[in-house]
Amino acid sequence: MKRKSKVYYLILIILFTGTSIYADQIHSREESPAYPKGYYTGDMLPEKTAYLTFDDGPAEWTGSILDTLKKEDVKATFFVCAYWNNRQMKGLSSFQKHTGSLQRIVKEGHVLGNHTYGHDIIPFLSPEKIRQQFNYNQILLNKALGEDAPEMTIIRMPQGQPWSVKSSESRKKYTGSIVRDLGIVAMWTKEADSTDSWDWAKGEWYKSTPKVDRDNPSFIKKRDRVYKRVLLNADGRGIVILMHDTHLVTSEVLPAVIKELKGRGYRFDTMEDFVMWKYGKSSKELIRTK
Ligand SMILES: [Zn+2]
Repeated sequence: MKRKSKVYYLILIILFTGTSIYADQIHSREESPAYPKGYYTGDMLPEKTAYLTFDDGPAEWTGSILDTLKKEDVKATFFVCAYWNNRQMKGLSSFQKHTGSLQRIVKEGHVLGNHTYGHDIIPFLSPEKIRQQFNYNQILLNKALGEDAPEMTIIRMPQGQPWSVKSSESRKKYTGSIVRDLGIVAMWTKEADSTDSWDWAKGEWYKSTPKVDRDNPSFIKKRDRVYKRVLLNADGRGIVILMHDTHLVTSEVLPAVIKELKGRGYRFDTMEDFVMWKYGKSSKELIRTK
């Protein structure tokens, strides 16, 4: 072999090896006792794809978020929680108070995910209580939506625990051993955490009247912070964005976030689309075939 063709040969080898390493990384995290099937921070995602996720609702602001999504023709995932702001479970659940928003989420093609009924920190509960947190939330959804209620086969842990914090391997394995039968786990990209739940800007608490002061400095400051934070690492890599529809700032900042991401060439998928991309099967099929 001539020296020149040797060099070409070498380049070809490098190119092919490079490609196969990349292909390997796409589905890098294999299922394990500590990591049931799902998405975890650091996992590979399709390029230029943004997954908008909204936790803790439905709430007062879910309707206007749905309006924006409709206008922008974008699909999202809502991780709903029946008694998020009502630990004593007194009176109506969020599902009863905001049934209309739940119906719209389903009718307008978004995905409903299970975020437990009481927002309890999962790794510290008994196996029975863990199952109850997810199963009862589903029962309440069925009651609210009747036949239209989808099975919530994608789940998100309250506060993302144990995978969002420094947890022991045994804590992850314990949680994993129970939740793996309840749904496909959906965490978020740490760099795309909107931080919208860190504090409450003046006027955005969920019980506030419609008279919210959008010009209040604390509100503007928070809105700008969320915008910058979400977009900081949106450089073409796939991102799972965490937001909360229990905060007014989320619905206020969303149109600008979507427009900017579109400008950077992003498309928007749901967590169900992610599951299909990663496993080639729907979350429902994956749960069934366990
Ligand atoms: Zn939450």
